[in-house]
Amino acid sequence: MTNYELTWITPQLAVGHAPMSYEDLDAIKKQGINAVVNLCGEFCDLHEIEEEFGFDVYFLPVPDEWVPDMDSLEKALEWLDEAIYLGKKVLVHCRHGIGRTGTFVASYLLRRGLGLKEAERCLKGTKAVPSNYYQWKLLRKYQKKSPPLKLREPSIELKSEIDLRAFFSEYEFLVREVEKRLVNSPGDHDKREDTGIYCCRERFQLEFIETLYLSKKINTEISLEMRKEVVLRATKCRTKKDHDFVCPLYMDERCILMDYRPIRCRAFKKAMVGPQEIVVKEVLNNISRQCFFSISGGLSAKEGLKFWIDDVCSGKFVQSYFRFLLLKEKSA
Ligand code: SF4
Repeated sequence: MTNYELTWITPQLAVGHAPMSYEDLDAIKKQGINAVVNLCGEFCDLHEIEEEFGFDVYFLPVPDEWVPDMDSLEKALEWLDEAIYLGKKVLVHCRHGIGRTGTFVASYLLRRGLGLKEAERCLKGTKAVPSNYYQWKLLRKYQKKSPPLKLREPSIELKSEIDLRAFFSEYEFLVREVEKRLVNSPGDHDKREDTGIYCCRERFQLEFIETLYLSKKINTEISLEMRKEVVLRATKCRTKKDHDFVCPLYMDERCILMDYRPIRCRAFKKAMVGPQEIVVKEVLNNISRQCFFSISGGLSAKEGLKFWIDDVCSGKFVQSYFRFLLLKEKSA
């Protein structure tokens, strides 16, 4: 039996003391935590045990009563940002869950744009508070630095994740239906014999729902390093001529998001002609328009809102989306 209790600071961020038994680890897991920031400089193998237990762990060893250096703090906060953005629930702990934990979490709140007073208010009533001169000094220094969020990918904020899931399910259903009809066709990612052009070497546009879906997968299904590479490649695409275009998701001669590739890629050089193709386009357009309505409260143009694949990969599509909303508002 264990009495391990977390204190939730936000719906995805909790604080606590160091787990001291497998029962504690189990209790932490049962409370929904799947990632851990371990600040215990005094326990050299606890982070490994946590990892073995199935948590994603960031180990930032800080001696008791002390503070991390600014670069290490920044890296750990980037990791935490990323974990939270990916929907993980994260426990931050030091040995007793007081000074080091309070300092780290307060830094995180500053990073999210809260002032020192607001951060203090958030932690009020919890054990997690900076407890000495050095820890407060670090926070003041961090506040002055006040770094902008570097890792938050551009995204169209949605009213709720549930809304989006419903549209994604409809889209995934459509993809499955399309796949069924393509089942006897040859490989979909290959060279097109007649012209010698690869499907990944043609610039193309995506409907709104596919844009949101692929953007979500880019942000959640590939590693941070790979994502940076995709964004870099996507940005370079803008300066390239059409005949030099290579899809930013095409790496080492394969699509890095093969399972989530758009319908256009699945159907490339396939025998999906005539009415079927029109129906698919119509359904895609319908889901997109409904999704747009749900997010913006307005109607998109009948022909839909489309985004270039490289803008989807770089996140630049968000700008086009807001520009579209602005123009719409002006013309209303
Ligand atoms: S999304 Fe994947 S399959 Fe489609 S063009 Fe890009 S790399 Fe190729």
